[in-house]
Amino acid sequence: MAGKPRVAFYWAGSCGGCEIAVLEIRERILDLAQAVDIIFWPVAMDFKYQDVEAMEDGSIDVCFFNGAIRSAENEHLARLFRAKSKTLVAYGSCAHEGCIPGLANLSDREGIFEVVYRENPSVENPEKLVPVTRYDLPEGEVELPTFYDTVRTLGQTVPVDYSVPGCPPQAHQSWAVFEAFVKGELPPVGSVIGAGEKTVCDECEHVKEEKKVKQFFRIHEIVPDEKKCLLEQGIICAGPATRSGCGALCPTANLPCRGCYGPPPGVVDQGAKFLSAVASVVDANTEEEAARIVSQIADPIGTFYRFGLAASLLRRRKLDQ
Ligand code: SF4
Ligand code: SF4
Repeated sequence: MAGKPRVAFYWAGSCGGCEIAVLEIRERILDLAQAVDIIFWPVAMDFKYQDVEAMEDGSIDVCFFNGAIRSAENEHLARLFRAKSKTLVAYGSCAHEGCIPGLANLSDREGIFEVVYRENPSVENPEKLVPVTRYDLPEGEVELPTFYDTVRTLGQTVPVDYSVPGCPPQAHQSWAVFEAFVKGELPPVGSVIGAGEKTVCDECEHVKEEKKVKQFFRIHEIVPDEKKCLLEQGIICAGPATRSGCGALCPTANLPCRGCYGPPPGVVDQGAKFLSAVASVVDANTEEEAARIVSQIADPIGTFYRFGLAASLLRRRKLDQ
């Protein structure tokens, strides 16, 4: 690579946590800034989209793109950065698998606008207005990007070279990815980077013994034993269905893994794997008893597909024709 690598960071449909995650490498951000030229990072520096449009295709060495594709603006930027970047990285769970924004695939644009703009008790909107894509003001016409019915991952929109999982990626993993990039030590294109090759259970120190759950609990309903596997105590933990790499951060704090590092290697649909793991601990003698036990699981789709609905085999609730 001649000269310093040219690096871009971009934020599409997401909460912004991945931007904070970049800064969580703390003072090493100065080392990164020494090693690369940051040529686009709107959350931290004043750049405009026109700056990117004016760049030659392939002139950005790597773009770390976080956020899902929720709107026409997100898609435009995804296509723009794909064209301008030699390497495009889906950075964080939203770009990688849709994450929390992907749960909106249980509804559609109309359903979301209804709840957010018309029914929302904290919004004063007597005329029941919802956003439109074009509007004439005395100063001229203004344009808003189209809000899509369906949230897509970055990889469902444009070809992606690498994915970094996590909501957000952990600082030590982000740093490892930045270092690997600067040193030119990246694995084959298509790899998941900044994560492990096993499951969170493999990194977790809670002891697995007996798989006999008669009752499921939400985390605030019991005080779990700090040594025993949380799932075996009836607390829904996504560890068996989640890629390692975070250091089992949540179970170490006696909280269940929620699954933010996405599916482990070889698993296509994290929610299906998670369901299978939970089914394997249920101790029921009859179908009725099994139904009673699993009915205690609150918000099944939000639990099993919290991070991966958009990337799953389901992708979304069927749209009405
Ligand atoms: S299910 Fe959760 S608590 Fe149990 S071993 Fe796996 S990560 Fe640890
Ligand atoms: S334990 Fe699970 S939810 Fe917590 S940071 Fe790790 S992968 Fe994410």
